[in-house]
Amino acid sequence: MTSEYDLTIVGGGPVGMFAAFYAGMRNAKVQLLESLPELGGQVQALYPEKMIHDIAGYPAIRARDLVAQLTAQMSQFPIDVQLNRAVTDVTGTMGDFTVTTSDGTTSKSKAIIVATGSGAFQPRKLAVDNAAQFEGQQLFYHIPSLAQFKDQVVLVAGGGDSAIDMALMLEPVAKKVYIMHRREQFRGMEHSVDLLKASSVTIKTPFLIKALEKQANGQLNLTMKEVRGTAEEQLAVDSLLVNYGFIADNKVIRNWQVTPTMTHRLITVDTQMNTDIPGIAAIGDTVTYPGKLGLIASGFGEAPNAVNQLMMQLYPERRSPLHSTTLFEKRAH
Ligand SMILES: Cc1cc2nc3c(=O)[nH]c(=O)nc-3n(C[C@H](O)[C@H](O)[C@H](O)COP(=O)(O)OP(=O)(O)OC[C@H]3O[C@@H](n4cnc5c(N)ncnc54)[C@H](O)[C@@H]3O)c2cc1C
Repeated sequence: MTSEYDLTIVGGGPVGMFAAFYAGMRNAKVQLLESLPELGGQVQALYPEKMIHDIAGYPAIRARDLVAQLTAQMSQFPIDVQLNRAVTDVTGTMGDFTVTTSDGTTSKSKAIIVATGSGAFQPRKLAVDNAAQFEGQQLFYHIPSLAQFKDQVVLVAGGGDSAIDMALMLEPVAKKVYIMHRREQFRGMEHSVDLLKASSVTIKTPFLIKALEKQANGQLNLTMKEVRGTAEEQLAVDSLLVNYGFIADNKVIRNWQVTPTMTHRLITVDTQMNTDIPGIAAIGDTVTYPGKLGLIASGFGEAPNAVNQLMMQLYPERRSPLHSTTLFEKRAH
């Protein structure tokens, strides 16, 4: 076998990053290919400031700090991390796959782990004609940094957990926070809704944003229209944060010449994370199996499973490891 890499991990979200670290522990030659300009997947791109409470060993950790920890963990090994490189095609068979990326580069890999999450994702945009002109200035789809909203008047549009999280995160930083939802009832978990109601955040329901207009003083004037009613309200804000969910697309993978079978746009895997293509495993949000949970913790469990079983197939003479200590000891010798 003359492949450049033992393992190619497609997707640098938390699950792909942990898989890369684990593959490093197994002394695999690994490349990690990520289509975005930064690692961390949804965690970094969509909710960097959110606190995550269900990562083993951390009572609570800020999303961006989790990505930093994963980066540090991964950096213990010489992982070949390549950003801004979407994998656009895969050809070949186990032991000799050719991986093509969006910039036309090709590389050889003996096996592949697909960790593409829900694919290339983007926020569901605000459907107001001139919205695009305010994007990144006064209209945001995630919180790039809490500090930038210090002492501002902010309206969060959306009714799910992450919209409520956004409003509660902004409350101690901003001068005034509003949350607007098109229904009377919020979709967030009861506990979050209770926190919201007990907070100083002013709730505006059931409203939709009808128009945006920049005022002479630089503020953004929002025209809010009552859903199924005629009432309208004006509100001047410094920033508008829209959280209407995300649209994800795994189209790229479906165009690969060698592409695993999918069910409802998710890759079907067995209990060892094998797809139906020998040598291609899949992990994280991109997979489905009975009982699959779309959680970071679930993906973290799937990563060693995929790495170990692929390494067993590539190097049957190497014994499967039990604990990290034995792997680190082996590397030291
Ligand atoms: C608002 C929100 C809050 C959440 N809160 C929690 C929480 O509190 N706890 C929890 O456990 N989970 C939470 N989740 C879910 C969690 O973020 C996901 O389960 C997790 O991100 C899945 O990780 P992943 O690595 O499988 O996929 P992703 O994070 O989606 O990463 C996949 C990566 O693959 C890249 N990619 C896609 N296609 C290609 C390609 N062709 N080539 C190269 N790269 C590609 C993408 O750019 C992306 O970076 C939340 C999700 C959202 C949206």
